[in-house]
Amino acid sequence: MFWQKDIETINRRNLESLQLKRLQQTVSRAYKNIPFYTDKFLEIHMKPKDIISLRDIRKLPFTSREDLRANYPFGLLAVDKEQVVRLHTSSGTTGKPKAIFFSKKDINQAAELIARCLVMTGTTKGDVLQNMMTYGLFTGALVMHYGAEKVGVLVIPAGPGNTQRQIALMQDFKSTALHITPSYALYLASVMHNEGLDPRRDLSLRRAYLGSEPYSEETRSKIENYFGIDVYNSYGLSEMNGPGVAFECIEKNGMHLWEDNFILEIIDPETGETVPEGEKGELVLTTLCREAMPILRYRTRDIVTIMPGKCRCGRTHRRISRIIGRSDDMIIIRGVNIFPQQIEQVLMGIKAVAQNYQIVLEAYDQMTVRVEISKDLFDGRVEHLVSLRNEITEKLRSEILVRPKVELLEPGTLPVSEGKSTRVIDKRTL
Ligand SMILES: [Zn+2]
Repeated sequence: MFWQKDIETINRRNLESLQLKRLQQTVSRAYKNIPFYTDKFLEIHMKPKDIISLRDIRKLPFTSREDLRANYPFGLLAVDKEQVVRLHTSSGTTGKPKAIFFSKKDINQAAELIARCLVMTGTTKGDVLQNMMTYGLFTGALVMHYGAEKVGVLVIPAGPGNTQRQIALMQDFKSTALHITPSYALYLASVMHNEGLDPRRDLSLRRAYLGSEPYSEETRSKIENYFGIDVYNSYGLSEMNGPGVAFECIEKNGMHLWEDNFILEIIDPETGETVPEGEKGELVLTTLCREAMPILRYRTRDIVTIMPGKCRCGRTHRRISRIIGRSDDMIIIRGVNIFPQQIEQVLMGIKAVAQNYQIVLEAYDQMTVRVEISKDLFDGRVEHLVSLRNEITEKLRSEILVRPKVELLEPGTLPVSEGKSTRVIDKRTL
């Protein structure tokens, strides 16, 4: 099941020479056409011709989301405005949005990548994709839409919400695939359950593509089991086209990142240095095929690792893990980089743990994880508590490589927090 077999299974040596050629072209175009990059190159006394090997990418300056905002709206365009056919924006929680432009060629290329992803997971001509992502300035829905049409899939541009209509559409048009956020998939499941509907009996679904929010393996299994489908993980960001940057194949073991379109680097978010392969770090991406808006070494802030070894599906493009965390959330304890999401994942994998927890950092790099335990299991017997505490401490230590102090709390002790940032209380003084 390949869309472009030659390029998807290209040998590494040919892939790397293709990358180098495209990198050199991208760097020249960025230097020549985008004043922001011209200035950055002058600052570090660098010329495009200094890119002789792929390793030379490390000499290039990073591009941050602040750079994208600072150059809003047209500052990072590499082509005349007349050549641009689509605008998307990506809004953060604060400040100006980031403007992302596509030329006709860029639209086509983004759709090609989606086509690879869909065919790789078994969706093909004759399938019916109900696209429940938001259509509009956000890239999520439209980029997927164009890619699916390219494959010859019937696309239902349902958008999110209006659950009754979603169910009717799925039934009437026998949708076989969904593009959906994990939280909406769970909500949809609960509505169907309450109405006595059984997806295995009443729908024709075979697979779903989940994106735009992080979610765990447990959530994947839950959705797979409830709907009786295969769920595939998808990675993308508006700055790099939107969805289709990396995608799982049927092995469901890491997402193939399309390396003929992007150069991937994993760096230590503190130092900016490349980490050894297999270690976790911040994903940095350089576009190789974007015409309207090439971006060099974009700091995604997403923490991932590269999966080891070759994939059984035969594709040679390397795979990245699920997002482990965001570099903004990183805490450093005794020289070790730790992400609150790692702690959350460990805790959520332990049955006796309730939803709420708190991470407290104190002087001398002491870390305490305060955990509420679930009501049913809070029997107050000391030996149970001690063994639970030991279990949590051990599991955390093996994940984050630092032994935290673990405090068990009765349910309802901690303030209910929204968002990750409030989970971490840093009392360390400099
Ligand atoms: Zn694969």
